Amino acid sequence: MGQIRHFIAITEEIKNHLQFLAESGCPGFDCSKESLEIIRFWGKRVSPHRRQTKAIVSENLEAIRRNLGDCRRCKLSHSRTHIVFGSGNPEARLVFVGDAPGYDEDSGGEPFAGASGELLTKIIQAMKLSREQVYLCNIVKCRPPGTRDPEPGEIRICLPFLKRQLKAVSPEFVCTLGALAAQTLLEKTAPVSMLRGRFYDCMGFRLIPTYHPEDILREKDNLPEYNRLRSSVWEDIKKIMKGLGID
Ligand code: SF4
Repeated sequence: MGQIRHFIAITEEIKNHLQFLAESGCPGFDCSKESLEIIRFWGKRVSPHRRQTKAIVSENLEAIRRNLGDCRRCKLSHSRTHIVFGSGNPEARLVFVGDAPGYDEDSGGEPFAGASGELLTKIIQAMKLSREQVYLCNIVKCRPPGTRDPEPGEIRICLPFLKRQLKAVSPEFVCTLGALAAQTLLEKTAPVSMLRGRFYDCMGFRLIPTYHPEDILREKDNLPEYNRLRSSVWEDIKKIMKGLGID
């Protein structure tokens, strides 16, 4: 009798969770052979140098983009112009992850456009790299309406695609830009000011959080804060350069 009650309680919990997902905009589950194979290896460290293993455990970016399709999995699809999938080197040693596409990214379909994109380009160039040598993407791929942050339910639905992209690129370093990207990938709630400045192990990559270029630009009329943020970002970037062996 006790076992039956336990079974009913579990069934009820599953039902509630499925209802919650449906209300968050999740239309169903991708149980294709390809997706199940990827899920089987989630959380297992894959050395970027073990290309043969990588080929087994991860798909390529084109396959992930195809699988994403004209995504309507969450309500951000209602307000977007373009899906901003990601761009850059599919075998990059360094991936930058931002929070969500803004107006310029939504218009052009490319991540990190507009003023904050220009600042990021300058940072990448100061690292003696180019945008084509790194990979750029965001936590969610569609622009939230107005200037709001993506909601937890929207992030939860979109995040598996980002994780698949990270597995596919298999970089040595991931640099998150802004609070939301760091908090999401590290599953922490601390502000970026407390998370930044050190490396974390995340999905087998070395992840370092720093401020978003937008955080710096927002302070352009407050010179002391503007300079503080700029030098904090540069300190973090120098740590990545050291890791990459760039003098
Ligand atoms: S944000 Fe992600 S999950 Fe939501 S519609 Fe866009 S691509 Fe799909």
